[in-house]
Amino acid sequence: MKLVLIGCPGAGKGTQAKKLSKYFNIAHISTGDLLREQMKQGTELGKKVSEIMNAGGLVSDDIVSAMLAERIKEDDCKNGYILDGYPRNVAQAEGLGAITGELDKVVCFNVDDSVIVDRMTGRRGCPKCGQMFHIKYNPPKAEGVCDSCGEALIQRKDDNEETVVNRLKVYHETTAPVIDYYKNKGILFEVDGTGDIDEIFKKVVAALEA
Ligand code: AMP
Repeated sequence: MKLVLIGCPGAGKGTQAKKLSKYFNIAHISTGDLLREQMKQGTELGKKVSEIMNAGGLVSDDIVSAMLAERIKEDDCKNGYILDGYPRNVAQAEGLGAITGELDKVVCFNVDDSVIVDRMTGRRGCPKCGQMFHIKYNPPKAEGVCDSCGEALIQRKDDNEETVVNRLKVYHETTAPVIDYYKNKGILFEVDGTGDIDEIFKKVVAALEA
């Protein structure tokens, strides 16, 4: 199964992708995570993209597409995968077929902008095991410490208010047209991305298994 998840930053794509990945036993590919890994390792590519990412802009299509094409060759993608954060514009969507072949479904998570800044600025993640928390809505048992592995939690550099506002602007101007692109192809499923995480998950699974 090959899936794409679309939605504004903070719409819950990553959270749902992790759950779907386990449920369907397919790989979760976040292009944002792949790029952050390059930054963490201090590679040339990482250095090149860090300024753009920290400002909430989009990295060039060539870089991200090449990275994705390499990633899906890995063993864990044999059964399928979930793309989280790709495509981010219509050009990427148009080129995606050549990388992946036909997609099964595109799931779009609809969340109003008004709740996003709060969701994202309160977000904290574990750099070791990847578990996500929110200081208000899903706090860890001990402040600043991962429940699962005890590691100190961190905030993403681009989860500050100024950058989040820019990321939302980029989303509406550049990524939102991708929704119509897939609507026209007849493979889009839209779901309300506010509310209980497990309820949203159930709706998505039902749509994918229908
Ligand atoms: P994300 O983790 O999906 O929120 O992505 C974080 C940042 O990585 C974005 O704000 C972009 O700077 C960059 N990025 C991730 N995916 C893409 C993509 N498909 N095209 C261009 N830039 C991307």
